[in-house]
Amino acid sequence: MKLLIMGPPGAGKGTQAKILAQKFSLVHLSTGDILRNEIDKASSVGLKAQTYMNAGNLVPDDVLLEMMNSTLSRLKDQGVILDGFPRTIPQAEGLSKIFKSLNQVIDGIINIEVDKNVLINRLVERAKKSGRADDTEEVIINRQNVYLELTAPLIEFYKDNLLSINGDGSIEKVTERILTRIQ
Ligand code: ADP
Repeated sequence: MKLLIMGPPGAGKGTQAKILAQKFSLVHLSTGDILRNEIDKASSVGLKAQTYMNAGNLVPDDVLLEMMNSTLSRLKDQGVILDGFPRTIPQAEGLSKIFKSLNQVIDGIINIEVDKNVLINRLVERAKKSGRADDTEEVIINRQNVYLELTAPLIEFYKDNLLSINGDGSIEKVTERILTRIQ
């Protein structure tokens, strides 16, 4: 099974992706986590990604596409849930090509929807605990704007296959809403 989970920063997609990965024995591929790990290792990808990420901007598409091409090829016989990728139309187009070359299809695209004010409050709360370099208020607002400009157009791109989920409510409630749509 190949699943995508999308939603604005703070929508809870990482949390839900982890739960779904465990439930369906999928590999959870969070591009944010993968990139942070590359930064910790000071790899060439990490060095390229760092300044973009700290400012709340997107890492260039070619970096992501190369990284996901090799990851998805390596995991070709396993179920995966993609969390944080694709994040732009060129990434979505590139992902179609990757899956085509691997003879695979996307089985489900989950889009978690949450009101913008709820999101900013959640992220400011998370920032107090996370210690992440991109969790300052200014950067949080930039990440929301980047989402609206570059990522939200994916809703139209995937409109025929999108499972829209209301992300307002408890973690369990949101999981339940997702499960009723994908089983
Ligand atoms: P959030 O869900 O709060 O947006 P993530 O951990 O998913 O946080 O991503 C953190 C940062 O990693 C993004 O702001 C961006 O700089 C970078 N990043 C993650 N995925 C991608 C992607 N698909 N394309 C470009 N940049 C990405």
